[in-house]
Amino acid sequence: MNLRFQAIDQTLKRKPVPVTLPSGKISEYFGVNVFDRQTMSSTLSGDIYQQVMRTIEKGEKMEVHVAEAVASAMKSWAISKGATHYTHWFQPLTGATAEKHDSFFEPTADGRSIEKFKGSALVQQEPDASSFPSGGIRNTFEARGYTAWDPSSPAFIIENGSGKTLCIPTVFVSYTGEALDYKAPLLKALAFVDRAATAICQEYFDKNVTRVHASLGIEQEYFLIDRALYRTRPDLVMGGRTVYGHAPAKGQQLEDHYFGSIPTRVHNFMVDFEVEAHKLGIPLRTRHNEVAPRQFECAPQFEEANLAIDHNQLLMDLMERVAERHEFKVLLHEKPFKGVNGSGKHNNWSLITNTGKNLLAPSSKAKENLQFLIFFVNTVKAVHTYNGLMRASIASASNDYRLGANEAPPAIMSVFIGSELSKVLDELEENATIEIEKGDNMYMKLGINKIPPILRDNTDRNRTSPFAFTGNKFEFRAVGSSANSASANIVLNTIVANQLVKFKEEVDGLMAKGEKKELAILGVLRRYIRESRDIRFEGNGYSDEWKEEAARRGLANITTTPEALDEYLSEQALELFTKNGIFTEVELHARHEIQLEAYVRKVQIESRIMGDLAQNHIIPAALRYQGELLDGLMSMKNMGMEVEGTVGYETVEDMTRHLKEVKKWVYEMIEARKRANKMDDTREMALAYKDIKATYFDKIRYHVDKLEFLVDDTYWPLAKYRELLFS
Ligand code: ADP
Ligand code: MG
Repeated sequence: MNLRFQAIDQTLKRKPVPVTLPSGKISEYFGVNVFDRQTMSSTLSGDIYQQVMRTIEKGEKMEVHVAEAVASAMKSWAISKGATHYTHWFQPLTGATAEKHDSFFEPTADGRSIEKFKGSALVQQEPDASSFPSGGIRNTFEARGYTAWDPSSPAFIIENGSGKTLCIPTVFVSYTGEALDYKAPLLKALAFVDRAATAICQEYFDKNVTRVHASLGIEQEYFLIDRALYRTRPDLVMGGRTVYGHAPAKGQQLEDHYFGSIPTRVHNFMVDFEVEAHKLGIPLRTRHNEVAPRQFECAPQFEEANLAIDHNQLLMDLMERVAERHEFKVLLHEKPFKGVNGSGKHNNWSLITNTGKNLLAPSSKAKENLQFLIFFVNTVKAVHTYNGLMRASIASASNDYRLGANEAPPAIMSVFIGSELSKVLDELEENATIEIEKGDNMYMKLGINKIPPILRDNTDRNRTSPFAFTGNKFEFRAVGSSANSASANIVLNTIVANQLVKFKEEVDGLMAKGEKKELAILGVLRRYIRESRDIRFEGNGYSDEWKEEAARRGLANITTTPEALDEYLSEQALELFTKNGIFTEVELHARHEIQLEAYVRKVQIESRIMGDLAQNHIIPAALRYQGELLDGLMSMKNMGMEVEGTVGYETVEDMTRHLKEVKKWVYEMIEARKRANKMDDTREMALAYKDIKATYFDKIRYHVDKLEFLVDDTYWPLAKYRELLFS
């Protein structure tokens, strides 16, 4: 029996894995594995605790004795929970998370031992960095990097098998100070948007606003398939996506999966991983089926952006680990199955003040609406100015398969704001000439005294937009399901902050000339509305008409990663990032290089898998079946029967044709790879791989999928779409 049939056999025998829920309510075990504020306040002295809070909330530098005290409390807490090791947990540019475990245990001079964890080990560590991508930074400057504690994200304990490890969120930087990870620039971007937004709130509206944080709620889509079937697919194992597979008879046409009932085996997995997530303080709240068969989504309650991103990274790890217990495999790839809906990671984003006000929530109070309009219009304007950068921030080899494919946002960046707000902006723009006289209710005259609450109705919302306003937040939907959201959030927060700074300079300038504050604000906003009109689109983002319309408006439609990434090195981007201290020029070049390398590696692996599978699995299976057909035909001939024109004969002919094509294109592709691999320039190489993908992948797949259709089912070695998606 081939591996595929063994796997099918296994799946038929599967029983749901029982999950024992912790006793008590969720609130009783939520965050038990987190060294959170509550734990800190009960284990640290009042004075030390206050100092830690100042570091977390105001970014104040932490003194050595404070770090020592925190390390000591953290150690005792972790050991009491059964942890034996600790690790600095960081987010290198590979997209995954990394850790290096060290033991608390330390032998002493007198032959005994103690459990030790010093403040210096909490604050800084030196992982072996040579295996993480650095885009040449380390080669040029210094061969080492270090990780440094991020006190704004709490430490937590991971249970892996029988061991428990204390994980300390950290940034990862080279010895010359360049960021080698996602977190370091993210923290800079978040601090920037805090400064820019706080200045506006404080000076124009409310003195009590001293801090603004970006809030983020990340919806995570994923596929869940049986582990045994997964193992029959080297393409899924090595590259996360099926490079071959004939479309199943029952596709997505029947939308009976969406919000349908969740099968017990899956349900148990979800419950299990939710419990684990809750223990880690990840506020998961919703779970449901997605559009495609075997596709699901989970979403936590929104949190401060840095924490939300750490939690999402942790969540992805956790899902994989818990899935193993249930004999499932989680697929986080953006497009694991051709012709089936892809997966994204919707980033719900807004700005919230320390006084608890959501700056992107329209209000019934006129004055608050003016503040809302500032943040709303400036965000739209920022996305308009930097739409190329927004596109670059979500670029990856895997997301290329999803953007612009069926049921996915296009590669064109646009903003959806809904009909109500469109009306408000239109009126504001048209009312440019209204004279405001003494005693007038200016807000009423301008029609912004009351912005109607946006209907938060699912059916009413445009789901085809890559960046949509959904009532009290913007939703960046083009982010890929496997991505680290930091990439998109570094760009989003930086461009909005930069725009807010510009806005304030303009308004301050007008006020210095004696203009009334409100009129100065409205004057500038009005111009912004006009200037950024082209980024606004309310229609169907999946349609071809939009592609044409977007081209007329001069919006970019960049469908491949190597080209999209160019934007990071544009003059506009270099200025934006260096002026605001988010990236140095060296860092930008390094990151650009790393992402191109990642692209090359991904496409190269896929191309090799396609070749290997064709050569070692597909062609032999087809030839075996063909041999059987030929034996039959031979027997017919021996009996004096006509063979030409029989089904067997024609099938042999059809197969021969497809087999030849497969072989021919696979060998041509190998040659093209050899040429690409000799290239010195990474961008040139990435473009060559982009061409390889465009030239060969679909062609080879077409013929392999035809063979899948022709070959006797019992010979076929790879789990089929219907098995992966409907069993
Ligand atoms: P959808 O209909 O797209 O599934 P939901 O209403 O379920 O949207 O919300 C999705 C996510 O948006 C959740 O994680 C939620 O916490 C988050 N969210 C809600 N309000 C905000 C906000 N002000 N800022 C950031 N995220 C938010
Ligand atoms: Mg959403």
